[in-house]
Amino acid sequence: MGYSFANVKTALPGPKAKALLEKRQTYVPKGVSNGIPTFIDHASGALLTDVDGNTFIDFAGAIGTINVGHCNPDVVAALHDQIDKYIHPGFNVMMYDSYIELAERLSKLAPGDHDKQAIFFNSGAEAVENAVKIARKYTKRQGVVVFSRGYHGRTLMTMTMTSKVRPYKFEFGPFAPEVYKAPYPYEYRRPEGMSQEAYDDYVLNEFKTFLVGDVAPETIAAVVMEPVQGEGGFIVPSKKFVQGVAQLCKEHGIVFVADEIQTGFCRTGKYFAIEHFDVVPDLITVSKSMAAGVPISGVIGRKEIMNVANPGELGGTYSGCPLGCRSGLAVLETIEKHGLNERGAAIGQKVMERFHQFKEKFDVVGDVRGLGAMCAIEFVKDRTTKEPNKEIVSAIIQEANSRGLILLSAGLFSNVIRVLMPLVITDEQLEEGLTILEESIVAQTASLQPK
Ligand code: PMP
Repeated sequence: MGYSFANVKTALPGPKAKALLEKRQTYVPKGVSNGIPTFIDHASGALLTDVDGNTFIDFAGAIGTINVGHCNPDVVAALHDQIDKYIHPGFNVMMYDSYIELAERLSKLAPGDHDKQAIFFNSGAEAVENAVKIARKYTKRQGVVVFSRGYHGRTLMTMTMTSKVRPYKFEFGPFAPEVYKAPYPYEYRRPEGMSQEAYDDYVLNEFKTFLVGDVAPETIAAVVMEPVQGEGGFIVPSKKFVQGVAQLCKEHGIVFVADEIQTGFCRTGKYFAIEHFDVVPDLITVSKSMAAGVPISGVIGRKEIMNVANPGELGGTYSGCPLGCRSGLAVLETIEKHGLNERGAAIGQKVMERFHQFKEKFDVVGDVRGLGAMCAIEFVKDRTTKEPNKEIVSAIIQEANSRGLILLSAGLFSNVIRVLMPLVITDEQLEEGLTILEESIVAQTASLQPK
């Protein structure tokens, strides 16, 4: 279609991908879903090329994992170096320095000037599970509070903590006990006629009522909050709400956990999104972009809390593997070298400018929102009723795929398009990706009404 970077030469799937897809359907259960029906051959920066030679601009970044870019050269060099030395002694068998160094660097980077420590695991869900274990051990309490529309993972505990019944929870119960779900602001869907300020007070009051009506604060070990909801639809809460909840945690001796698994490592223009809210969390969970695609996760936080569990009570065979630690250190160097926090903020500005234009142009766009480069468009059938428009989102994503742009949906009603492009994307690639997105909306919007 005459793009400079995106280049889809075949129908999707192309012939080689089609053969692999047939095998996939035979040997891999359908329970693990796939966005775009093709298979990767290689990737670099913000571009992915599939087995049939089609090239795509990547606005998904492995769901927020590739902020420093695919096959980032610093990461690749660190991994090669590590593989030649040793792959895995097991940190609890024989230790390695990269684990310690990464723990030191992340402890110093995390907000707050108190003493901090960090411990590493494999996946985001595992980090959240362990944040809960650590908080329970420290407080000797059991209750865990999460928020409506939140996402924390697919293990029993984190699935319990997660919203969106289908596909995450339906027929997978019974769930873990002592998990309570509190309200979270959703500015776009605040009651008609209520001012922003009144709504902020209202939701915080609802949280206070929740501590009376649903669970006693003195039985709560942890409140786990995404500073910006990811899977829930890139919903940015008010500063007042985040600060109010953090303050209540402080008053009641509750461990406040910021789940930064999707928001961390420059996505919002800061290392941690919670920094935008001037809140210092007790614990932070990290994963995804911390290691550019190598499976590793972590909990960072107050030493007095982190250091309570006894030897052997935390960990796992692969926890904090050397490849993950080395990659994590290379990621931190890359961030500094390329000023990726500033780049995240700049990308966010460009994306939001275009998204605001989309809102002007297309009636199906109900809301555009974001923090830094964590930006989203919410699609509706009607701007007055705000009825979610899931169908148009899936049509736009397919259209964009066929033109060479990879996109992700989000939201309880799957009616949100979110962008998580690598932050090393060039200005030209970003422009082209946004143009493809606009063309895809045009192609799929019957009710297109330029104003
Ligand atoms: N927390 C948040 C905020 C997430 O976005 C995710 C993954 N989307 C997780 C936890 C779970 O991470 P993982 O898939 O690595 O278990």
